[in-house]
Amino acid sequence: MSVRTRIAPSPTGAPHLGTAYVGLINRVFADARGGAFVVRIEDTDQARSSRASEVAILEALRWLGISWDEGPDVGGPHGAYRQSERLDIYHRHADDLINTGAAFRCFCTPERLAEVRRAQISARETPRYDGRCLDLSQDEIDARLAAGEKSVVRLKVPEEGICSFEDQLRGEIQVPWMQVDMQVLMKSDGFPTYHMAACIDDHLMGISHLIRGEEWLSSVPKQQLLVNAFDWQMPRLVHLPLIRNPDGSKLSKRRNPTSIDYYRRIGILPEALLNYLGTLGWSMPDERDIFSLDEMRSAFDLARIKTSAPVFDPVKLRNFNGRYVRALDSEAFVARYAAWLSESDALARIAALVQERTEAFEDIARQVDYLVGSRATLNPEDFDNPRLETDRQLEILAFVSWSFEGLERWQRDEIHACCKTMCDALEMKFRDFLWPLFLAISGRPVSLPLFDSMAVIGRDVTLMRCRDAIECLGGISKKREKSLRKVFEAMGPFNRHSVQ
Ligand code: GLU
Repeated sequence: MSVRTRIAPSPTGAPHLGTAYVGLINRVFADARGGAFVVRIEDTDQARSSRASEVAILEALRWLGISWDEGPDVGGPHGAYRQSERLDIYHRHADDLINTGAAFRCFCTPERLAEVRRAQISARETPRYDGRCLDLSQDEIDARLAAGEKSVVRLKVPEEGICSFEDQLRGEIQVPWMQVDMQVLMKSDGFPTYHMAACIDDHLMGISHLIRGEEWLSSVPKQQLLVNAFDWQMPRLVHLPLIRNPDGSKLSKRRNPTSIDYYRRIGILPEALLNYLGTLGWSMPDERDIFSLDEMRSAFDLARIKTSAPVFDPVKLRNFNGRYVRALDSEAFVARYAAWLSESDALARIAALVQERTEAFEDIARQVDYLVGSRATLNPEDFDNPRLETDRQLEILAFVSWSFEGLERWQRDEIHACCKTMCDALEMKFRDFLWPLFLAISGRPVSLPLFDSMAVIGRDVTLMRCRDAIECLGGISKKREKSLRKVFEAMGPFNRHSVQ
C-alpha cells in the first residue's frame, strides 16, 4: 500500500502550533514509509475562512521547514486542494447517499431543533436529532423543495448496536450507535460539513493513514457509516493526543500564544521550534532531545508516540532555542539575527518612524527598544491615571484585544480605525482611551506612534502584550469576562474596517 498522509487546516485564524505538530508527524511518517504528504484546505466554513489565513498557515509551515508534496499552492493529481473548489463532488456524493437511503433530506428549522434540544436536555437525554424527517415521502420532499423550503442532508444512523473501530495508538474503540447523532452532511447553504467533506476527500485523495488530533475521534463512527455507504475502505486511524498547557489545560491562546507567527516574531529559530514540537509526545530511540528533521525522519516510528498528553511549555521552548542559538557559529549568529531584524521590512518601517525624531544616531536605541526587542516589564503603578480607573483600563484592553483578533488586515490605518470607533462607542477622549495601550505596547505612556508600532511588532505580539498588561492590572475573572463579552458584542463589531 502506498502511504499517503495529510493535514487539513481550516483557514480561520492564525497558524496554530497544533497544525504544525500534526503536520510534522504526518510529514515524517510519510517520509519514513516513502510516501507522500498532502495539505488540504478545509474552507467550508464560509463566514470564518479567509485566503489571508490560508496564506499565513502555508507560510508558517514553510518557515518551519515542513514541506508538502501536494497542496493548493503546488497542485497535484488529486486537486482541487481547497474544499470550496470541490462543491460539485460533495453534491454528487450527497445525491448518491440519498438515493441509496444512507442519508435523508431534513427540513427542520433551527428553531424547531433548538426546541427539541431544550426538551432533551431538561429530560436529561443526550441532545440529538429526533428523526422527524426520516420517513418523509418522496412527494412531500419534492413539494417542499419546489416551494423553496430550506433543507439539509443528514446521515442515517443505526438505532442500536455498537460501532467498533481500531485506532493504531489506542487499540479497539467501541461506541454505541445510540450515542451518534444524525449528522448534517450538507448544510442549507450548499456547503458540506466537515464530516462529509473530509471523508470524501480522504478517500478521493488516497489517504492511507489518517493522523489527526484526538478531538476527531468522535467523528469516526460517522465516517465509518459514510465509508460503508460508498463501499470504500477506511484509512488507518491514528489520533494524536492533544497538546496541553503546562497546567494541564487544553492548549489555548488564553494561556500562552498558540500562533506560530508569535514565536517567529519573538525570534525563536524555526529549527528549534520544529525540534521542540518533535519532542512533544514522541521521543528518539536514544532519548536525546536535540535532533534535526532528517534525524527524526530516519528514526520515526509511530509506536514511539505516547498517548499521554504532551505539554507545550513556552519556557522550555526558550530554553531549547537558547541551546540552538548558542550552537550557531558567530557568522551564522549575526546573519540569523540580521535576517530576523529585517523581516517583514521592519527595519525600514522603524527607520521611517525615527528619522524625524533623531538628531544623532545615539537617540535611536532608546526610542525603538520595544520594537526590536521585548518591552520593559510593567508594574501596576505605571497605569495610575486620575482620569482612568483600573476597571476601565481593563475593559479597554480586553475590548481592543477581542476586536484585534478579527481584524482582517493588520495595518496601521485599520488598527487606528478600529480603536477610534471603539473609543467613540465608549464615549471617551481618544487620549485617555490610548493610555493603557501605550503602556501595554511600549511599556511607557509616550512612545513612537502607537498604531505604527503595533503594525511593526505584529498582531500576535500586540495581543500578547495586551494580555500581559491585563495580568499586570490584576487580570479579568471568567465571570467578568463573560459579562464584558456581552457588552462588547452588543457594541461591536469594531473590526470591519477596510481602509483603502
Ligand atoms: N479542519 C480540521 C481542523 O482544523 C481537520 C481535522 C482533520 O484532520 O481531519 O482541525
